[in-house]
Amino acid sequence: MSATLHTYRVRVARSADHGIGAGVQQFSVQLEERMTVLDALFQIQREQDETLSFRCACRVGMCGTCAITINGRPSLACKTRPRELGGVELELAPLPHLPVVRDLVVSLRPFFAQWKQVLPAFRPVDAEATAPARIPAESEFAKAIPRKRDCITCGACFAACGVKATSGEYLGPAAINKAFLRILDPRDGAKRERIARIDSERGGVWRCHTQFQCTDVCPKKINLTDTVTRLKRALLLPGRLGQ
Ligand code: SF4
Repeated sequence: MSATLHTYRVRVARSADHGIGAGVQQFSVQLEERMTVLDALFQIQREQDETLSFRCACRVGMCGTCAITINGRPSLACKTRPRELGGVELELAPLPHLPVVRDLVVSLRPFFAQWKQVLPAFRPVDAEATAPARIPAESEFAKAIPRKRDCITCGACFAACGVKATSGEYLGPAAINKAFLRILDPRDGAKRERIARIDSERGGVWRCHTQFQCTDVCPKKINLTDTVTRLKRALLLPGRLGQ
């Protein structure tokens, strides 16, 4: 028995090299029930326009490479099924707040520039130690961070953030979450430097207006609003972060 095909009208924001806008182009695709937006993009590229540019790698929601705006919402193309969105129209555009390279491809350079601001690499308290610094599953740190370690640096939260839309300085949810993980880590030797970076009204946690967009779009279901709120609370109580 052959699978049922559903027809979708796909409108894609196109651009030439360096993101120079080239309008919206409309395509028609036929997808099976379980097919994704990424399948639709491959179908268009294979059968209708080989110049359509988009990015992907793992295709199973692990790498974050295929994040684009789908019907106005930053999402992973490989994890979004048109059947679950309802309707027969798809509006596809590149992620906002990031420079467009071409069509649906953006540069994550601004995202990682902020990521670097929080000193993301682990800096051990004892740089000479040779024994592995394990995190016991029953430790307070291990219990405090479930899920928050799952970031795949897709940039969806950065793109959805209303504050990021108006502030180039704001670190953004993912970078703040990374700082949170390092600061809570009892093995971390750079707490003070990290805290200094996030305890700022211009680029740090105090810039967040608790709009929840980041938490809403995160494909790994990381509660980023909770991260920022916990950091704010801890910063108001000296000693809570081991500073
Ligand atoms: Fe993507 Fe979530 Fe990481 Fe933000 S926190 S970059 S939305 S995985």
